[in-house]
Amino acid sequence: MSTIADNLSSVIARIGAATQAAGRAPGSVNLLAVSKTKPAQAVREAHAAGQRHFGENYLQEALAKQAELADLDLTWHFIGPIQSNKTKAIAEHFDWVHSVDRLKVAQRLAEQRPAHLPPLNVCLQVNISGEASKAGCEPAELAALAAAVGALPGLCLRGLMAIPEPGMSIDEQNVTFARVRALRDGLDGALDSLSMGMSDDLEAAISQGATWVRIGTALFGARDYSKPEPTA
Ligand SMILES: *Cc1c(COP(=O)(O)O)cnc(C)c1O
Repeated sequence: MSTIADNLSSVIARIGAATQAAGRAPGSVNLLAVSKTKPAQAVREAHAAGQRHFGENYLQEALAKQAELADLDLTWHFIGPIQSNKTKAIAEHFDWVHSVDRLKVAQRLAEQRPAHLPPLNVCLQVNISGEASKAGCEPAELAALAAAVGALPGLCLRGLMAIPEPGMSIDEQNVTFARVRALRDGLDGALDSLSMGMSDDLEAAISQGATWVRIGTALFGARDYSKPEPTA
């Protein structure tokens, strides 16, 4: 069995190769380690191997892990669906949120971001695969949402996040990620971030401009959902 440290080296090598193949600057793609469903010990191992940015989908699970790992210098990203009644804890306990898809949630995050913390970095999640998913802002509504979110104090709008439907060919992945990039490029405000690419499609995402790839399985192994999946 390979260790998390081995997996991390492999993923970093994949990112480096894809970055070079795309003619992009070394270090221009950041690795977000997605630790959902994995124990705090797995995060600790990845940290020991040099990883600092971690992504979580379920608030209660994330808060428990953060408390267990309070001795480490970690940067936490919230990447899951956001219920309105969870915004306060998210605003208080995370540095980034990749999954903002409506103004109400952004307004609550902005109001609830503690004044002593730097602005919360935000990506807007865009629904890039149409009918296949209900999560994410519709592309037609993105410009209005971005303008409104960009004006909120307490938040720093950084870019877009997308989760394409699984099972696409490489060509389809490229077309889809290129659409996300074009949407981002069409927004005002020189947004610097594109959160796209997971274990199975990080190469295509990097070729189309990803600045964050969100990697779970390739780092921590397959997730076990035989236990009831947390819903929040
Ligand atoms: C679980 C998850 C990931 C990680 O996916 P892998 O295929 O395991 O790399 C990335 N992004 C989001 C939003 C997720 O929920």
